[in-house]
Amino acid sequence: MPDIGQRLRAIPGMDIILNYDWVQDWTERIGKIRVKREINKELGEIRRRILSDEGFEFSADEFRSSCLNAFVSASRSSLRRVINASGVVIHTNLGRSLIAPLAVEAMTQAAQSYTNLEYDLKAGSRGQRNSHVEDLLCSLTGAESALVVNNNAGAVLLALSALAKGREVVVSRGELVEIGGSFRIPDIMSLSGAELVETGTTNRTHLFDYERAITDRTSMLLKVHPSNFRIEGFTTAPERRELSRLAHERGLIFMEDAGSGLMVEGALLGLPVNAGEISIKSCLEAGADIVTFSGDKILGGPQIGGIVGRKEFVDRLKKYPMARALRVDKVTLAGFETTLRLYAQGLYDEIPTLRMLRLTQDSLKARADSLAERLASRLTAGSVRVRVLEVDDATGGGSCPEIPLKGWGVEVNHNTLGAGQIQKLLRFREVPVLCGAKDDKIILHVRTLQEGEEETVINSLEAVLNV
Ligand SMILES: *Cc1c(COP(=O)(O)O)cnc(C)c1O
Repeated sequence: MPDIGQRLRAIPGMDIILNYDWVQDWTERIGKIRVKREINKELGEIRRRILSDEGFEFSADEFRSSCLNAFVSASRSSLRRVINASGVVIHTNLGRSLIAPLAVEAMTQAAQSYTNLEYDLKAGSRGQRNSHVEDLLCSLTGAESALVVNNNAGAVLLALSALAKGREVVVSRGELVEIGGSFRIPDIMSLSGAELVETGTTNRTHLFDYERAITDRTSMLLKVHPSNFRIEGFTTAPERRELSRLAHERGLIFMEDAGSGLMVEGALLGLPVNAGEISIKSCLEAGADIVTFSGDKILGGPQIGGIVGRKEFVDRLKKYPMARALRVDKVTLAGFETTLRLYAQGLYDEIPTLRMLRLTQDSLKARADSLAERLASRLTAGSVRVRVLEVDDATGGGSCPEIPLKGWGVEVNHNTLGAGQIQKLLRFREVPVLCGAKDDKIILHVRTLQEGEEETVINSLEAVLNV
């Protein structure tokens, strides 16, 4: 066995590598800087292995193939389309809601053109970017005034900063939530400069708990939607009406972070929701002064944070300097306006998130049957078994966590490849396919497949399994 020095000297130098034909091809395609960067990463890895593994030697063939893989990856966009076969409709890691085609059109138009973003065409003078959605938001929710910012975390931060900085905010211990990806009520509270006052217990908080927590430094009672969990069993929380009455008797603001935020009552949308999931309009009717919500969760629009409520408070938020730092861009605003117009027209099936949630069992079963049939005819019969089955889908995005969402899917079982291996190979495809797994078999949930994606899924499985 050659010693370490000999094995290290067997690695060719960068100048030599850059002259290889297969490297020069890629230099033209992705640029010399990136090619060198990828080669350096590969060389670093080879040196590391030579130093740590006595049996390891440089292999020109392996080096070439791992460099080529790295070049291919480097040539692709990092942010890419994927196929969601997980059955989770509002999948936070996969970018939450898909935007309605009509909203996408408006976004493209806004992106490519000058717009009247902050120009009042009637008056011929400076206008407000918020004005394009305020009226729609007010008419849909019954609010006096509305404002949109970057996202709901920003909306909560802005509202607490502008309305409760240096004062106390009372929150039930049962609602001190952490939403995936580091949104924690106590952290947002301290960032805003408001002082968190916890009251009640994790499972039970009574009206008298709120009453006792109020001092002359209190500015607000805050209710937070426990988006991604439910405490069940022996639980109590006061009604919104009681909370708002208490807040108003004491001259306090009653604010609600509605999290997901239904733009229309769930029952009207035909969604499988329960009493815990109420519309923004109902929150306001129950007496909330300010309600905040996300645009890209169950609402099904682009990422925004909505703030609706009483004019005197929303006006204070509009004027607060932080609002400027959280403002939305023209592309997002165009998409959000069009999404709201679809609500106003009652065209719920034009909104992909709502359409996927409203799909019937019959139509899901029919799609699973057809996918299974096509898969069975294209995959090698001896080594693969395909079966249609009922599956658990999910709303996701912190909406309706306890409501089971039944769906249909296709289970694919391979002789030698385990579910984890198949999932990995599917992730490495040009259009990655993300699916579920159970009992070491992969499961393709049809609810979240978009039109025409079945063919790509079949091609991918063919490439991965027919070997
Ligand atoms: C999701 C959620 C947030 C954060 O909303 P973003 O739009 O992701 O910033 C805040 N509060 C609650 C209750 C949520 O469910």
